[in-house]
Amino acid sequence: MSSKDDVDGVDAGDPVYKTLLESTKAIPWKIDWNSMTFAYIGPQIETLLGWSPESWASVNDWVERIHPDDREYVVNYCVSQSKSGVDHEADYRALTKDGGYVWIRDVVHVVRNSDGEVESLVGFMFDISERKKTEEKLLTLQKELEELSFNDGLTGISNRRKFDMIMQTEWNNARRTRQPLSVMLIDIDFFKQYNDFYGHLQGDDCIRLVAQLLNSAVARPRDLVARFGGEEFVMVLPETDHASALRIANKCQRLIQDQKIPHEKSSVSDLVTVSVGVSTIIPEDNKLDKFIKSVDRLLYKAKKNGRNRIEVNTEASS
Ligand code: GH3
Ligand code: MG
Ligand code: MG
Repeated sequence: MSSKDDVDGVDAGDPVYKTLLESTKAIPWKIDWNSMTFAYIGPQIETLLGWSPESWASVNDWVERIHPDDREYVVNYCVSQSKSGVDHEADYRALTKDGGYVWIRDVVHVVRNSDGEVESLVGFMFDISERKKTEEKLLTLQKELEELSFNDGLTGISNRRKFDMIMQTEWNNARRTRQPLSVMLIDIDFFKQYNDFYGHLQGDDCIRLVAQLLNSAVARPRDLVARFGGEEFVMVLPETDHASALRIANKCQRLIQDQKIPHEKSSVSDLVTVSVGVSTIIPEDNKLDKFIKSVDRLLYKAKKNGRNRIEVNTEASS
């Protein structure tokens, strides 16, 4: 570095400044704009990336040491900002000599001559890999948290909160597209007696198993199976007419029946059974609650009419 490398009136060739520049963790550099070559790069670069300062000759050396996925964006951005004379910064992965990558933040200052033309770029590279790692960890945690807040702790299927959200979305969709929307409520019969006889832990196992069976009864990506509460489940079936919904309801009953889960204290069978209320609607208004209550009434009707049965909305089925 010679005394020509005068940065904004500071003689970077001065031993004091040189010592200062080369003892920071940030890596200083300077690029001559006309020749597109490095006028200087701090020796710290070798510690960080393994490439000696001498190996940073042209701007191309910098370009080639940017991760291919970051390269185009970073180079285009930096070139356009520099051309317009705007100070800027860019985060990217820099290639190390042994083939790894380190996250770098490059902070760039554009230096102009007295005519206002870009003369050089000076900047600092910062090692931000720790920050990036923390950011990535935070992102994963955030995703996990979102998953947790929409999943039921016992069964792992969607929870009531997820149901509330999806139900509203699908209601609006169906209202707009005039497609039939089916909703099903499913409740295990005599579950209080099941718990009393087999114990609460086995009760939990039973709820988990029923949840998985119900989940396996639907296949479309937009179908939702959620735990509505206790031993009660709900299914949201978009673009599903009444006949199809009824077929799914029968399938649910059959899947549970086929598992042959003993239920000695049930008055309706010696196996675990469910009661189902199912209804289909093409929404005309925003009275979603009213519709859910009507499905709940069908479930209640199934219980009253003997359990282990499906009740449908006769208006929709006719
Ligand atoms: P019905 O046939 O009318 O549905 O009778 P039921 O006994 O199933 O109905 P009820 O709603 O009165 O009882 C549901 C029972 O489910 C009561 C409660 O102890 C039990 N339950 C609710 N949540 C859980 C749970 O997370 N684990 C277990 N093991 N039991 C639960
Ligand atoms: Mg029950
Ligand atoms: Mg119940």
